Amino acid sequence: MKKILLSAVALLMLFSCQNDTTESTPSADAIAKRGCASQEVLAAQLKANPSLALRMNEIEAFTQKSILTGRLVNGKVQIPVVVNVLYRTTAENISLAQIQSQIDVLNQDFNAANSDFNQVPSLFAGVKANVGISFVLEAVYRKATTKTSWGTNDAMKIASQGGIAPTSPTTKMNLWACTIGGGILGYAQFPGGSSSTDGVVIDSKYLGNTGTAAYPFNLGRTATHEVGHWMNLRHIWGDATCGSDLVSDTPTHNAANSGVPAYPSYSTCSGNPVEMTMNYMDYTDDRGMYMFSNGQKSRMAAVFVSGGSRASFRL
Ligand SMILES: [Zn+2]
Repeated sequence: MKKILLSAVALLMLFSCQNDTTESTPSADAIAKRGCASQEVLAAQLKANPSLALRMNEIEAFTQKSILTGRLVNGKVQIPVVVNVLYRTTAENISLAQIQSQIDVLNQDFNAANSDFNQVPSLFAGVKANVGISFVLEAVYRKATTKTSWGTNDAMKIASQGGIAPTSPTTKMNLWACTIGGGILGYAQFPGGSSSTDGVVIDSKYLGNTGTAAYPFNLGRTATHEVGHWMNLRHIWGDATCGSDLVSDTPTHNAANSGVPAYPSYSTCSGNPVEMTMNYMDYTDDRGMYMFSNGQKSRMAAVFVSGGSRASFRL
């Protein structure tokens, strides 16, 4: 079990004292292991803007209070999605069919309608969640570029740097599709950050489940994972050895898992729990991840309740 009731002081430390961790960076051509830069981007944003930690602490306190009081969103939340495509090559200028396939995957994964949902082991049957949030493609904007890769410094979101500025980021989720590079499949901005950079970035080679989507990240789960961050979910290992993801019904993981681990995979953390390697917020290959937990669902729902940091998305 994890400590979910962290004090404000502990949370301040959590958000303020993160080290800049350097991830292994295989060549962009052959990514062997999942790489998500959300936590590193957050660390950089916290460094540049100390008030962000305060705002995120408030969001965390609100989240825990909403979960404890059961004040979670009941009605359906539907997220309009704006996709911003930046391309140098024709392959990077991904088709509408590929973009729509990503929206379809999000709708399946967030509504327990994915075909592999029934593969969730019986051990986790009681906590596997139907999140109940849906997505609808609102618009696609495309822009040619001479850049071969964009990195993780948000340049793709800034028009003066050759990117595309977000459209109505307080009422629409913006998704940038471009080549990121550095072994990074995608990254998201957590709730609380600047609306001018709000949204998720997905490398176009790992977007959707058709077209240029490349094995083993060819089932659209990179976006499922990143949208999880965008809705305030942490990595299941808490970005630390036996760290906390601020969710009570997920087991404590040693570290990130990759590939498709054989089940059961035991943690060496306290109590040696069986790890929930099939959770979307781990680092496995796309075919290895197929569930959110109820605790994660509660964290995401808290973002959308009245007073929540993304309440403006409610219909
Ligand atoms: Zn991540």
